[in-house]
Amino acid sequence: MKTCQQIAELASQYVDGELSMADWGQVRMHLWLCPPCRAYADQIAMTRQVLEQLPAEAVSEDVKSELVGRFRDWVDAGAPCDEDPEG
Ligand SMILES: [Zn+2]
Repeated sequence: MKTCQQIAELASQYVDGELSMADWGQVRMHLWLCPPCRAYADQIAMTRQVLEQLPAEAVSEDVKSELVGRFRDWVDAGAPCDEDPEG
């Protein structure tokens, strides 16, 4: 079972569909059991959607890198929750 920290690190790849089947299944299971991680993944998915829907010229590289940097900060700061839902 992955920890919330591990899930936070995998969340953006999960949203992008870049995980292996095994990792994807584990993330999916964790998100199902762990509402804080689910909310975190939802936020990433929502931000991705917003970025995709904006016309390219409306989003400067600065804005994009700031958003990406913010996600990195969240991951670096620790998992969205401390509890292992299995524990
Ligand atoms: Zn979690």
